[in-house]
Amino acid sequence: MPAEPLRVRADGRFSSRYLDTDAVKVIRRLNAHGFTAYLVGGCVRDLWVSAEPKDFDIATEATPRQVKRLFRNSRIIGRRFRLVHVTFHDKVLDVSTFRAQVEASEDPHDPMIRTDNVFGTAGEDARRRDFTMNGLFYDLQAGELIDYVGGLNDLERRVIETIGDPWVRFREDPVRMLRAIKFAGRLDLRLADDVFQAMLDCKDDLKKAAAPRLFEEIVRLLNRGGAYQSTRLLYKTGIMDLLLPEVSERLDEKLAADSVSPMWGYLRALDECVRSGTRVSQVVMLGCLFLDLFDELLYDEGANAGIRDLTLCIDRVLRPLALRMHMSRRDAFRLKQVLVAQRRLAGLVKIRGRRGASNQLMSREYFDESLHLFRIMAETRGRFADEVADWGERVRR
Ligand code: ATP
Ligand code: MG
Repeated sequence: MPAEPLRVRADGRFSSRYLDTDAVKVIRRLNAHGFTAYLVGGCVRDLWVSAEPKDFDIATEATPRQVKRLFRNSRIIGRRFRLVHVTFHDKVLDVSTFRAQVEASEDPHDPMIRTDNVFGTAGEDARRRDFTMNGLFYDLQAGELIDYVGGLNDLERRVIETIGDPWVRFREDPVRMLRAIKFAGRLDLRLADDVFQAMLDCKDDLKKAAAPRLFEEIVRLLNRGGAYQSTRLLYKTGIMDLLLPEVSERLDEKLAADSVSPMWGYLRALDECVRSGTRVSQVVMLGCLFLDLFDELLYDEGANAGIRDLTLCIDRVLRPLALRMHMSRRDAFRLKQVLVAQRRLAGLVKIRGRRGASNQLMSREYFDESLHLFRIMAETRGRFADEVADWGERVRR
């Protein structure tokens, strides 16, 4: 890897309409006080491919204390990984000091990185990052991208490459495998062959990663328009067998998993919603992933079961999943309500005084989410068209 970075003028390529004005202010102030400071990571990657960044991270040579002194609206956070949060009325910006990659643990059986707080140079800071496309800096003063890791070339080729050996980088931090899958789905990028192979070889290490981090990443796979592709990769790599065995078993049961499971259709529909700018709640996203597990129960044979039996059956499947996924109690409960409501929406529960009953359902706070999931299911499968129309009518009335 060259010590001197590649510098590329960003004019034209950089969609400045997405550039965050507060981040620009923070960088200019750091620069004005003599500190090198760049935009870094995901926002640079996204700006380069004309995607809208989710958040703007800043990397600087200033230490956390020096940063803190420059911004009244800031505080130092984190023990292991100290950085500064600069708060604006609608957002918080992360300002972190250039850091070097720390040596992995000495124990060859446990190569995971546990501390991460050694200050370093910009080049070192780029190289400790996970993927080449995530190691880019944007120098506002010069209007240039700074590339120490070959990230621009890989982005142009639309390939995800780790910085350094993928087997080493995945063993250091197995969650990176999920991050690669997330970016591949979201940005429609290909995994480099060795990255894919390393995932097959290292996936068992995911068992060692902290469960909340794993499942946080799974939710992130779903929420930015790449749910279908990312979930396909989870399946193809066998990571789904490890993290969501209920779902992958169900796919195996359905044999030719490629086309047969409606889950793929739900996830595609979810991506379309997200890409068109429709707000989709986390519960509806999880619903798209899990709905097929409850298919017969909700829309077919189960239709004769009493509501208590139905709830119990849903609980039996959902509870272990929710626990394992560290779903909040609120989300888990809401997801159950949304699933139970599917049968009512499908008109499969015969209730006396139907109008009163539907008004009651419509007054529930989980109604909108329930109907959203029901629509996705009905449209994907070409079922219940009349019910969808009827509910639409009732909502408009
Ligand atoms: P997103 O758009 O989902 O926020 P991101 O690339 O910005 O994607 P973040 O989790 O916000 O991801 O992390 C910011 C940056 O920190 C990344 O771009 C990457 O450079 C670095 N980073 C994050 N997680 C890791 C990791 N596990 N290992 C190494 N570097 C990481
Ligand atoms: Mg980010």
